[in-house]
Amino acid sequence: GEALAVSARVAPLGSRLVLLLVEDLTEARRIEAVRRDFVANVSHELKTPVGALSLLSEAVMDASDDPEAVERFAGRMQIEATRLTSLVQELIDLSRVQNDDPLEDAEPVGVDELVAEAVDRCRHQAGAKQITMAAGGPADLRVWGHRGQLAAALGNLVENAVNYSPARTRVGIAARRVSAPGGDLIEIAVTDQGIGISDKDKERIFERFYRVDPARSRATGGTGLGLAIVKHVAASHGGEVTVWSAENQGSTFTLRLPEAGVARDRAHPRPDPH
Ligand code: ADP
Repeated sequence: GEALAVSARVAPLGSRLVLLLVEDLTEARRIEAVRRDFVANVSHELKTPVGALSLLSEAVMDASDDPEAVERFAGRMQIEATRLTSLVQELIDLSRVQNDDPLEDAEPVGVDELVAEAVDRCRHQAGAKQITMAAGGPADLRVWGHRGQLAAALGNLVENAVNYSPARTRVGIAARRVSAPGGDLIEIAVTDQGIGISDKDKERIFERFYRVDPARSRATGGTGLGLAIVKHVAASHGGEVTVWSAENQGSTFTLRLPEAGVARDRAHPRPDPH
């Protein structure tokens, strides 16, 4: 009687274990598929500039008696080489944010500094398109995190705002503190008056290599990795990134990050010494 009762109790547990195992396998298979897609995408993205470079170098050799043509081909080789360099750099950045725990090197980081650095990074591009950049918010806001990663994340958002906006528009960066159940958060919103993003694309733009318009992205030096990096940085800091957008009106990307002083305990819970 005892044994029967026990096995009756164990049987449902057993089937639940089998179910968990199956779910685990499905998840493992999904991760494997994502990894395979990523490798295929990287290979494809690398092949394009490398193929162009190889064709262009042949063209240069064939045109050796035409200095003008040589110069033209050489110019295009330089563009392809630059593209290759920024792709490799973004791949390195992505692998860094995926592999390093940012909170090991976390410190209070001034939002002002992050904003100034991001604006600085885009000053040239914005100037060429006569885009006005305006930043606003309280002066003393600080987030808790990895300075380099946070700078890369905000820099990507501001760079996109400039890249996907027509000339003579405005890019705004607004920071504020908002209360949240787990402690105060810092919200940094980057708003543009650019081309906007459709609802269908909104769901996918944070995926690695996803671009709404690959030709346009390439023309501005985009790699399709920027928002994947932003999303990863936000999540690993215990924050998030969200998007609001209306086609042909503009977009707002909002980064929410733990405030310095609040976040330390949330990220690495420690027993209260008192
Ligand atoms: P990319 O290097 O192509 O800019 P991202 O990962 O940064 O890659 O962005 C993915 C895609 O999302 C872009 O190719 C673009 O289509 C779209 N996108 C990103 N930011 C904006 C924006 N501010 N306005 C409109 N579209 C955007």
